[in-house]
Amino acid sequence: MHILSGLNLEEIQAVTDELHATPFRARQVHNWIYHKSVSSIDEMTDLSLKFREELKKIAIVSDVKIKVKQESVDGTLKYLIEYPDGECVETVLMRFDNRANLTACVSSQVGCAVNCSFCATGKRGFIRNLTYKEIIEQVLTIQRDTGLKVTNVVFMGQGEPLLNLDNVIKAMHILNDNFQIGARRITVSTSGIVPQIYKLADIDMQSTLAISLHAPNHEVRRKLMRIEDKYNMSELKKALKSYIEKTGRRITVEYLMIKDLNDTVDSAKELAVYLKDLKCNINLIPYNPTAENDYQRPSNNSIMKFKYLLEHSGKKVTVRLERGADIDAACGQLKGKV
Ligand code: SF4
Repeated sequence: MHILSGLNLEEIQAVTDELHATPFRARQVHNWIYHKSVSSIDEMTDLSLKFREELKKIAIVSDVKIKVKQESVDGTLKYLIEYPDGECVETVLMRFDNRANLTACVSSQVGCAVNCSFCATGKRGFIRNLTYKEIIEQVLTIQRDTGLKVTNVVFMGQGEPLLNLDNVIKAMHILNDNFQIGARRITVSTSGIVPQIYKLADIDMQSTLAISLHAPNHEVRRKLMRIEDKYNMSELKKALKSYIEKTGRRITVEYLMIKDLNDTVDSAKELAVYLKDLKCNINLIPYNPTAENDYQRPSNNSIMKFKYLLEHSGKKVTVRLERGADIDAACGQLKGKV
């Protein structure tokens, strides 16, 4: 049985060719999958009843299930999606009242091997990579369920996207070609897998690279992110510089702010020095406390002071709006557990 979601036009045509249909039929099916986001072949009403019956014998739209769906008071939706092998991942749709953007935050792996100390996903360890089709299914699931069109995609859900780079790149191409989501509306976030940052620069998709830095120096970063022992901040900086030079793109630096650990005036000054010659915007993310560790959210006063100091160093700084904290959909809270 063919699964139509995640196939490109040529692949859909290969399916409809089995029924000796014209290429036009393939284009219709493609449109129903990616732009009208149907859940079943029966809903493809501009295809003849006979053709739909034939197609149903060899194909289905999707083989994933929504296991749990939660809605936050701020409108954020979180889905726990189950694949046919029983593995689950979480996908989040973020909506902002004053913007037309609908941003899907997708997972790239089941579990994660990087094991950052603040992250609920890392606690599960690595289970497996998602295929590009499984990544695409997350976006389609959101579109099918809400009837809305996703406009932006961030690879910031479960998993380290750069440790599943081939599938992530294929998924990015499909988002670009089939969903018509511009590469600049796609963000890939990494904990800092240095060799893969060089690789990503080589294929230059014009997407945005977000680096989860979260620390002003090696010592603090080691406490938060074990990856620092493998690829330290100086190697990371070289890779980021080379990425920026090669792609001409500005990167985003993500900085999770944790009370008394990395939110001090000294930390802000040290961070400003580290980022001085990097073309980047900075995104400050006040920590969302979870039951799994003792980290605390900094006071609003420390956040504003920190922001001011970085802005003073000439950077554009935003404080990320918290989305979905009440349903554990915020940064570092995704688990993928049933
Ligand atoms: S923060 Fe990202 S890289 Fe770190 S453990 Fe969690 S999912 Fe993996």
